[in-house]
Amino acid sequence: MYDENNIFAKILRGEIPCNKIYEDQFVLAFKDINPQTKIHALVIPKGAYVDLDDFSKKAKNEEIEALVRAIGKVADILGIVESGFRCLTNKGHNGGQEVPHLHFHIFAGEKLGRMINR
Ligand code: AMP
Repeated sequence: MYDENNIFAKILRGEIPCNKIYEDQFVLAFKDINPQTKIHALVIPKGAYVDLDDFSKKAKNEEIEALVRAIGKVADILGIVESGFRCLTNKGHNGGQEVPHLHFHIFAGEKLGRMINR
């Protein structure tokens, strides 16, 4: 069940501001408010999807295509294609998801550590 009052839904409705990087018909990308790396961006669909599982089952092909292409566009805009980056999404309790609106994190700007730290 999608929570219309989650923080990213409020950003999409323009109720709270964001530091925008990229926007198109289906996607919004903005800087993470609490960056974990020198560059930390978030790429989200404009549609109401809780997580990647929800998106993969319900999103239209054009939404899926737009989201994947937007990740490439954001990487271009941020100038991190050559140096490299990490793109990940958290889903649910075990995934450590805090905001219940699908988002891809893009981490870059420095050498990243191990993929999983325990
Ligand atoms: P996750 O744990 O994968 O759900 O990640 C949620 C991310 O959203 C965290 O990295 C937060 O720092 C980020 N975040 C929370 N509120 C905001 C906001 N208002 N603007 C930008 N990023 C946010």
